[in-house]
Amino acid sequence: MQAPTPAALDAFWMPFTANRKFKRDPRFVTGAQGMHYTMSDGSQVLDGIAGLWCVNAGHRHPAISAALKQQIDTLDYASNFQLGHPAAFTLAERLADWAPADLNRVFFTNSGSESVDTALKIALAWHRARGDAGRYRLIGRARAYHGVGFGGISVAGIAKHRNAFGPLLNGVDHLPHTHDPKRNAFSRGEPLHGVEHADALEAICAVHDPATIAAVIVEPIAGSTGVLPPPVGYLTRLREICDRHGILLIFDEVITGFGRLGARFAADRFGVVPDLMATAKGLTNGAIPMGAVFVREAIHAGFMQGSEAGVEFAHGYTYSGHPLACAAALATLQVHQEEDLAGQCAAIAPYFEDVLHALRGEPAVADVRNLGLLGAVELSPFPGRPGVRAQAVERRCLEQGLLVRALGETIAVSPPLVVSRDQLAGLAETLRAALRHVD
Ligand code: PLP
Repeated sequence: MQAPTPAALDAFWMPFTANRKFKRDPRFVTGAQGMHYTMSDGSQVLDGIAGLWCVNAGHRHPAISAALKQQIDTLDYASNFQLGHPAAFTLAERLADWAPADLNRVFFTNSGSESVDTALKIALAWHRARGDAGRYRLIGRARAYHGVGFGGISVAGIAKHRNAFGPLLNGVDHLPHTHDPKRNAFSRGEPLHGVEHADALEAICAVHDPATIAAVIVEPIAGSTGVLPPPVGYLTRLREICDRHGILLIFDEVITGFGRLGARFAADRFGVVPDLMATAKGLTNGAIPMGAVFVREAIHAGFMQGSEAGVEFAHGYTYSGHPLACAAALATLQVHQEEDLAGQCAAIAPYFEDVLHALRGEPAVADVRNLGLLGAVELSPFPGRPGVRAQAVERRCLEQGLLVRALGETIAVSPPLVVSRDQLAGLAETLRAALRHVD
C-alpha cells in the first residue's frame, strides 16, 4: 500500500498520539507475522508489546485468521437485541468454563472502555435491583487506567485524562496507588511492601459510610501507568474489606486476562475472585475488537426477576457479540487450549524476569518491575524534561528493530506469550544499547 499523502496524514486525527510530532516524521506498519511487524521500508520489528498488550498468540495466527475468513462468508452481522446467533452463546459458554469460580455470565462489548463502563453499570444496577439504591459510590484508584468512557475516566486516576471533561461521575473516590519505589524498587514479581494500602478502603468507608459504596474497581496490575504489580496480600485484603461491607469488587483484566500473567486471569494468578471482571484485548488476540464482562452467577440472577416481558438490563451495543468477533474469540480460546499460552508464559516468565533485571545498573535505570510477561524499566528523567528520556529510548529501540512503549518515565515490555528465549535476550540487548545510546 502507498504511504499516506499529506492530505491523508492531515485527515486522520490519531488517538493518544502527539499528532503534529508524529506526522512530521511518520512511521508505518504494513504487515505482521508471528512476533514481528513489517515496516513500510521493509524492515522487521520485534513486537515487544504484543500490539497494545493484546496479540498474545502472536500476529496473524492461522487458526484465528481462518475463523475470521470463514465467518465473513457465512454471517456478516446479526444483532443480539431480541434475536441472536449461535456463536455468541457458544462463546459465552466457553468463556464461562474458562473463567474462575462462578464468573459464568458474560456480557459482550467492543472494547476495554466499554467493558469497564458496562461493569460499573451492572454494579450500580444490581444494588438497585435488590432494593439497595443507596449504594451509588464507585471507588477507583490513583494511577489507574480504565479506558476513556466517562465511567472509566471517573474511576481512573490520571489527571490529564480527566481534567478537560468537567465534573465526571458523582460520588467517586480513589484509593491510593501502590507504587513505592523507596521500599520496593527492583522487586521481582509482587513487591513485599504495601499490603496496608488496601486499608485505605476502610478509611474511605469511614468517610462515606460503606452502605453508600457500590463497587471498587482495580486493575490487578496497573498497566498503562507503568506496570505496577500489587503488593503481596493486597488484592486478598481488598477482597476481605469489600466482603465485610457488601461492596462489589471489579477487576479490570483488560491487560491481565488471557494468559499474560502465566494463568488464565489475574484472578487465578492471585487466587482472588472478583464479582465482575472486565476484559477485552487478548479475547480476540487483537484481531478484531471485542470485550467481555464476566459476572458472578448470583449478580446476574439479581437481574432475572420480575416480569419476563421487560428488558432486565437496559444496556448493550449494536456490536455486542458481533459474529466476526465471536469467531475470532472462539478460535483464540481454542489456540489457548491447544498451545497452552498461559503455560508458555509461566514457563518463560522467570527468564524474562532475569533479562529485564539484568538491566539494573544501566544508565538512568531507577527500577525494574515484572510479573508474567508484563515488565517495566523505569528511568530517571532528564532534569526538567519529564518523559523525554523514555520517549527517546522507545524511538531508538524502534530504529534498531524493537517495539517497546514509553509510558511516562517507564519503558513497558509485554511481548506475545509465544516469545522465545532468544527473542527475549535480543529484546533486552536492544533495550540495553538504547539506554546507553540515549544517555
Ligand atoms: N482497561 C485497561 C486496564 C486498559 O489497559 C485499557 C487499554 O489499554 C482499557 C481498559 C481500555 O481498553 P480499550 O482501549 O480497548 O477501550
